[in-house]
Amino acid sequence: MIRVTVWNEFYHEREMDNVKAIYPEGIHKTIADFLGKEDDIEVRTATLIEENCGLSDEILENTDVLIWWGHCHHDEVPDELVAKIRDEVLKGMGMIFLHSAHHSKPFKALMGTSCNLSWRDGESERVWVVDPGHPIAQGINKYFEIPQEEMYGEPFGIPEPDKLVFIGWYGSGEVFRSGCCYRRENGRIFYFQPGHEANPTYHIPEVQTVIKNAVRWAAPVYRAKELVCPMVKAPGQE
Ligand code: ZN
Repeated sequence: MIRVTVWNEFYHEREMDNVKAIYPEGIHKTIADFLGKEDDIEVRTATLIEENCGLSDEILENTDVLIWWGHCHHDEVPDELVAKIRDEVLKGMGMIFLHSAHHSKPFKALMGTSCNLSWRDGESERVWVVDPGHPIAQGINKYFEIPQEEMYGEPFGIPEPDKLVFIGWYGSGEVFRSGCCYRRENGRIFYFQPGHEANPTYHIPEVQTVIKNAVRWAAPVYRAKELVCPMVKAPGQE
């Protein structure tokens, strides 16, 4: 079983009626619901409004893939927790950053760049598969459409992705690297752009397929017990 924790800042869904109408119990619950139907995935949720952001050491250590949705409250995630999350990724935990998590502290800590982009609300988007052989693109036929999504435009201040899986094209003509894969030490990271809170994006079957694929791709192959830099004897020496 792949043990997934879906983390959400969980403010918009409680404070804005239009968002609550789309995600009555929160974006995290919607994502957890479709992931939980998979035979090989075991899912729990955590939110910013819980103690320690719902992410105890024990939960982090027992999470294979952490999914992150945040937007307006990135700064409220304690730096100490961000450092722990980064270390778990370096040890081997997988991590999926959704939509406005491009500016979350864990994403910026793992990328080391500004992660800035340009944005404008209210565009149609066509998400193109640019790497049809990639595991995360399986089940997606050439492209899929999102009737209404926030435009995220280039330049996107990220390091060059190890693999680019999707490019988003908007009705306005702008384009964006919408699906980016990274390795950081032992951990796998996927950034996926769709998912503005005011649009029902996480109810779209293709979006759910991508997230399910990404969970399986990001699941740890190897997880180090600790991050150490030891002085060692030569092989054969006592
Ligand atoms: Zn947004």
